Amino acid sequence: MAKKKSPPRQLTVLKRSNVSPHMLRITFGGPGLQGFPDDQDSAYIKLLMTEPPEDSDERPVVRTYTVRHYDAASSELDVDFVLHDSEGPAANWAKNCVPGDTIKVMGPGPKKLVDYSADWFLLVGDMSALPAISANIEGMPEDAKGFAILEVIEEADRQNLKAPAGLEIQWVMNPQPEEPSERLLNAVKALEWRPGRPSIWVAGEFSAALGVRSYLKKERGVDRKDLYASSYWQMGKSEDEHRVSKRNAPDD
Ligand SMILES: Cc1cc2nc3c(=O)[nH]c(=O)nc-3n(C[C@H](O)[C@H](O)[C@H](O)COP(=O)(O)OP(=O)(O)OC[C@H]3O[C@@H](n4cnc5c(N)ncnc54)[C@H](O)[C@@H]3O)c2cc1C
Repeated sequence: MAKKKSPPRQLTVLKRSNVSPHMLRITFGGPGLQGFPDDQDSAYIKLLMTEPPEDSDERPVVRTYTVRHYDAASSELDVDFVLHDSEGPAANWAKNCVPGDTIKVMGPGPKKLVDYSADWFLLVGDMSALPAISANIEGMPEDAKGFAILEVIEEADRQNLKAPAGLEIQWVMNPQPEEPSERLLNAVKALEWRPGRPSIWVAGEFSAALGVRSYLKKERGVDRKDLYASSYWQMGKSEDEHRVSKRNAPDD
């Protein structure tokens, strides 16, 4: 029998903090967080931007975000929102919310972590993936080696990451994230490959993520089991339209 979905939780906005010019942290709390599973940094949640009446066939508008940090002791959950230039219900909601506002949230869904037993690591992503990548990096063993290639909009969007000394962090600037770009791909191409088995994690804009995934598989011969590659958003498409693109994307 199919597992019944848990009902959404109603979370309350506790505070807003500016992580960087284009990243806004919303801290959620309230009684709805009770029973939220511990150790969920990097897992995804779905925010319900609309809630159609129960007797309607309409589907809710949902948007996917990452648990940047959940502190069970203080019962606070941080979510980092990219403040992008286009109109989008989630980014708009984040820009305008105030402490005391509530929102329904489903999840958490499974965490997507690198394999910490690999010989070396490569993490690649834009600002939408920075919360998940940061959580991945925080879980790494102290002697971890490799690279993180992180695309942000401007210098001031760089974050101080708690990274092991052997993880080289490269920041790539892209002031126009909603225009086609091969910045991440070019940075990956320029890497000096390490010996041994890598564990590679890639996420970001649809075409950019597909481009990097295709290069890693075809040109670097990366094995499927050593690679997590996902697209987190798509230029000019809402999350609902992006989901359709993902379903139809080539599996190369
Ligand atoms: C598993 C997963 C985890 C995610 N975690 C996070 C997270 O922690 N933080 C986060 O900010 N995003 C995250 N995202 C991406 C987020 O779901 C999308 O960016 C989403 O489209 C935002 O919804 P929206 O309502 O603001 O815009 P939508 O209505 O979905 O899109 C409207 C327009 O906005 C533009 N747009 C959307 N997102 C971006 C962007 N990031 N940069 C530039 N332009 C954009 C597009 O051109 C689009 O046409 C995650 C996605 C996935 C799949």
